Amino acid sequence: MLPARAVTWDYLIVGAGFAGAVLAERLASQCGATCLVIDRRAHIAGNAHDRYDAAGVLVHDYGPHYFRTNSDRIVEYLSQFTEWHPVDYKILSWTGGQFWPFPINLNTFEQLVGHPATSEEMARALAEWRVPIAEPRNSEEVIVSQVGTKLYEMFFQNYTRKQWRRDPRDLDASVCGRIPIRLNRDDRYLSEKFQALPKDGYTVMFRKMLAHPKIEVRLGTDYRDARAQIAHRHLIFTGPIDEYFGHCFGPLPYRSLRFEPETLAQEFFQPAMQVNYPNDHAFTRIVEIKHATGQRIPVTTIVREYPQDFGPGREPYYPIPAPDARALYQRYAELGEREPGVSFVGRLATYRYYNMDQVVGMALAEFEKLRVPKS
Ligand code: FAD
Ligand code: UDP
Repeated sequence: MLPARAVTWDYLIVGAGFAGAVLAERLASQCGATCLVIDRRAHIAGNAHDRYDAAGVLVHDYGPHYFRTNSDRIVEYLSQFTEWHPVDYKILSWTGGQFWPFPINLNTFEQLVGHPATSEEMARALAEWRVPIAEPRNSEEVIVSQVGTKLYEMFFQNYTRKQWRRDPRDLDASVCGRIPIRLNRDDRYLSEKFQALPKDGYTVMFRKMLAHPKIEVRLGTDYRDARAQIAHRHLIFTGPIDEYFGHCFGPLPYRSLRFEPETLAQEFFQPAMQVNYPNDHAFTRIVEIKHATGQRIPVTTIVREYPQDFGPGREPYYPIPAPDARALYQRYAELGEREPGVSFVGRLATYRYYNMDQVVGMALAEFEKLRVPKS
C-alpha cells in the first residue's frame, strides 16, 4: 500500500542501482533526509545484482561486474559497506581454434609469431603493422592505429559488430579504446590500480547501504505507475531519460543482451573467468564468475551472453557511444536541465557507457550539489 498523499518524502529516488543507492545513503546519513527508493525490478543493486542460484553458485545476473577504480575516495566510500576480495581479472579470447591471452600483450604476440620475443621486438612489429592515424576518431581507427589490421580483425572487428550491431567505424574510439594493449606480460583485463569484488557480493553491500531508518525501499514499483501517489520535494531519476520524457524526440538507441545460464556438475568449465568469442558463435562471451569470486563448490554455472536489439520486454543495457545517438541524447539532456526539482543521475539517465565506479563518482558529485542549499 502506498502512503496517503499527506506523507511527503524529501527525496523520491527512482532506481536502486549504484546511482540511486549511493544518493539515498548519503542524503539519509549526512542530511537526515527521508528517501523513498523505488525500483521496478524485484531486487536492489540494479545491474550489479548478484545472488546464489539454485545450485548454490554466486552468479552475476546481468553480466559480469568486475569492480575496478583508480579513485581512493570511491574505495574508501564503498568500504563502509563491504570488505573486498582482491581479483586480477583475467580473460582469454578464442579464435582460429585456440585460446589467446587477451587483451593483446607480449604473450599474445609470442603465440602469434610462434617463438619467444621481447617487448622491443613486439614494439618493432607493431610499429610496422600499425596504420598511421594521428587522431583516431572511431573504434576501428583506435585499434588499427595501435596494432594494425590483422590483430584488429582477429580480436575486435567481429566481436564489436556482434555486440553493437554497428561497424566499429560508427562507434566512438572510446568503445574499443577502453581495452588496453600492452608490450609487457601483464595479462589482466583491466588496468585500474584497485581491482576487487565485494567480499560477500554486491547485493549484500547494497543491503547495507540502504539499511538506514530514513530510507524505505519499494521493489516491483514503476515510477510511471506510482508517481502520482508519492509526494516528494525532489526527484532523483536513474532510469532511461528518453522514457522519463515520454520519448518525445523519439527513442534513444540502446543495445540489449540475453543471458543464457547453464549449471554443470563439474568444478570448472573453462580455463578463465571469461572467454571471448569474437569470430565463432552468436554469443560474445562465456562467463564463469566462480573463477573471480573464489567460491569453492563442486558445481559451476556459466553464462553465455547473446547481444540483441533493444525492444519491448528487453532491458536497455548499453547506451550507444556514437555521435548520432549522442546528438539525440543532447536534446533530452537540455530538457532535463530545465526540469525543475529533478536530478538525472547514472548510466541510463545521462546516457553514458559508465562503469560502476564512475557512477558512484557521479552520484557523490550530485550529493555535493544537493546538500548545498540553493541561495
Ligand atoms: P542501473 O544499475 O541500471 O540501475 C537503474 C535502476 O533503475 C534499475 O534497477 C532499473 O530497474 C531502475 N529503473 C529504471 N526505470 C525505472 C522506472 N521507471 N521505475 C522504477 N525503476 C526504474 N561496470 C563495471 O564497473 N564493471 C563491469 O565489469 C561491468 N560490467 C557490465 C556488464 C554488463 C552486461 C552491463 C549491462 C553493465 C556492466 N557494468 C560494469 C556497468 C554497470 O552495470 C553500471 O555502471 C552500473 O550498474 C550503473 O548503475 P546505475 O544506478 O546508473 O544503473
Ligand atoms: N571488444 C572487442 N573484443 C573483445 C573484447 C572487447 O572487440 O574481445 C570491444 C567491443 O566493442 C566491446 C568493447 O571492446 O563492446 C568493450 O569491451 P568490454 O569487455 O569492456 O565490454 P563490456 O564488459 O562493457 O560489455
